[in-house]
Amino acid sequence: MAQSGEYGHFINGERVAGAGKRTGPVFNPTTGETQGHVALATREEMAGAISAADRAFPEWASINPQRRARVLFKFKELVEKDIDNLARMISSEHGKTLPDARGDVQRGLEVVEFACGIPHLQKGEYTESAGTGIDVYSMRQPLGVVAGITPFNFPAMIPMWMFSVAIACGNTFVNKPSEKDPSCPLRLGELMMEAGAPAGVLNVVNGDKEAVDVLIEDPRVKAISFVGSSDIAHYIYAEGARHHTRVQAFGGAKNHMVILPDADMESVVNQLIGSAYGSAGERCMATPVAVPVGDATAETLIEMLRPRVESLRIGPSTADDADLGPLVTAAHRDRVRNWIDTAVEEGQEIIVDGRDFSLQGYENGFFMGGTLLDKAQPEHKSYQEEIFGPVLQIARAKDFEEAVALPSKHQYGNGVAIFTRNGAAAREFAARVNVGMVGVNVPIPVPIAYHTFGGWKRSGFGDVNQHGPEGVRFFTKIKTITQRWPEDVQGSEFVIPTMK
Ligand code: NAD
Repeated sequence: MAQSGEYGHFINGERVAGAGKRTGPVFNPTTGETQGHVALATREEMAGAISAADRAFPEWASINPQRRARVLFKFKELVEKDIDNLARMISSEHGKTLPDARGDVQRGLEVVEFACGIPHLQKGEYTESAGTGIDVYSMRQPLGVVAGITPFNFPAMIPMWMFSVAIACGNTFVNKPSEKDPSCPLRLGELMMEAGAPAGVLNVVNGDKEAVDVLIEDPRVKAISFVGSSDIAHYIYAEGARHHTRVQAFGGAKNHMVILPDADMESVVNQLIGSAYGSAGERCMATPVAVPVGDATAETLIEMLRPRVESLRIGPSTADDADLGPLVTAAHRDRVRNWIDTAVEEGQEIIVDGRDFSLQGYENGFFMGGTLLDKAQPEHKSYQEEIFGPVLQIARAKDFEEAVALPSKHQYGNGVAIFTRNGAAAREFAARVNVGMVGVNVPIPVPIAYHTFGGWKRSGFGDVNQHGPEGVRFFTKIKTITQRWPEDVQGSEFVIPTMK
């Protein structure tokens, strides 16, 4: 193994090996083997990437938006051609199944498609004759060097959410991806270059807190978009404010699915099984909590869910017929197991226990079986915290009011879903619930690219969402020009001008 790690960085248009001594392991979660080491950037390496982005900025920002969009159109084409390769990379380092890994790339591409509309999206506003002989116009200008710090669970989608919009707006970008699955973000850097982006427009630097702190502290970095766990999101938001850096930071989640007694239970169970256990529960928009309303609904739900959870097909991430693969690391799997222990100690009933699952032939892989728990209570720590594994907790509600209150009072507010045939109840729920993204008979309400993504409470710090028009707003600053071309201005005005 190379001392500096086989996975280096992509800086100023080329792959470079890490210069420092520190590395992190990259596992194959299916086998449990270490398949390589990723370089963890030194402060100097990160500063070098920021310099490359800073040098590239003036020219990239001056290119007309239609030409920037053409680079993104080409990038989209190249990613589509490379999608199987990218999916294999993701699957082998993350552990999600191949079709799910393809979905990860595809959802990112949808934001690239959105960003291809930048000539229209970045258009300004104009008011003719705002006063006598006065016109007012405003324009959205790029910020300069901007950065994205991304989590392990969507190594394609989340970097693309950020850099496609940022670059389209005329910024240059430094991505600090998760050290757990670095291959896909590095490949995306190469493909952007192949698509015609000049060197330095998109840089990918692997690293940990040391590298992140440089992004926060360097005054050349004008904005940081972060997605990851809530404590780190809060740290980056607070530190960003201290350094006068614009930050949007999205954190953890504990999404609830409310099931009213009139819901189509067949459909509920089909959708819940996928959204709770797909990707081994490692999705910020998974549904780890089911809230059946009334004991009869709860009993039916459990009766229908139990055999489905017991028969989940758990396999190597490359298996064609697997519903879910392993978890990302052994440490994470052990944390998930500990949360199940805690839930049982807190008094939850374990209906299906996935803690001791082992996959024949892959005994060292980071696998877990699906777990189903009943009678989670608001005061249980295992209900309050994110588990991020193939674990579904049932928190029974006695009525509609309690079903609105549970997700509304939870510390996280990323997504929530309601399943019902009653339009009025769904409408009232959507209006009242204190959560950022709501699904009505839709289990994972991830908004499409031209709408906007963002959770509330401890799921999101900052006030501007990801992608859609909000993304363009985040990655630009507005300048407003009030102009007059006077021929006969006489005298001085000492009183603030007003519209008379
Ligand atoms: P994480 O917080 O451990 O890491 C996220 C990023 O922060 C990585 O790039 C990591 O290298 C960096 N990082 C880690 N420790 C740091 C530190 N001390 N200082 C500075 N940077 C640090 O998150 P993860 O385990 O990669 O991802 C899973 C988490 O992300 C879950 O909590 C999940 O809910 C959340 N997530 C949220 C969303 C959302 O949109 N709200 C989307 C996906 C994932």
